Amino acid sequence: MNELKNELKKCIQCGTCTASCFSGRVTALNMRKIVMDYLSNERSVDVHDEIWFCLSCYACQERCPRGIKLTEIILKARQRITRKKGLPGRLSLALNSLKKFGALVVAKEEHVKMRKSLGLPLYHAQFDEKARKEIEKLVEKYSEGVLI
Ligand code: SF4
Ligand code: SF4
Repeated sequence: MNELKNELKKCIQCGTCTASCFSGRVTALNMRKIVMDYLSNERSVDVHDEIWFCLSCYACQERCPRGIKLTEIILKARQRITRKKGLPGRLSLALNSLKKFGALVVAKEEHVKMRKSLGLPLYHAQFDEKARKEIEKLVEKYSEGVLI
């Protein structure tokens, strides 16, 4: 944890990370505040549920003038949380759906019938066994905290 403290102590609270964050435009994710909370209140990055809104785009990390590895800090926090408590409920449901059907939103039976009746293809990985298996493997890795 000292390594993290030394890293975050370099922060000058310029807000570039927050201004660069695509997710933060529509969610509560605010990296400048998370860093400030850590430095001022010693609140771990892990207690901020909003880190699950991070898209891992690396914009904050790339633009931070102090070279703070913000995205990596978030990814490590998510790994720690997943290993300790598993994935948060909604994400876990989404991953289960991905694992089982190869899709976050499963195609409805009525829509499948309609597409078939119109001679339209079914693009959904749900209908492609090879793609579904590949997704299943990735989800298993993700669930172990390898990819997050
Ligand atoms: S961009 Fe870097 S220095 Fe600026 S507030 Fe964010 S973490 Fe701190
Ligand atoms: S890596 Fe995450 S926190 Fe950083 S800018 Fe992208 S979405 Fe925001």
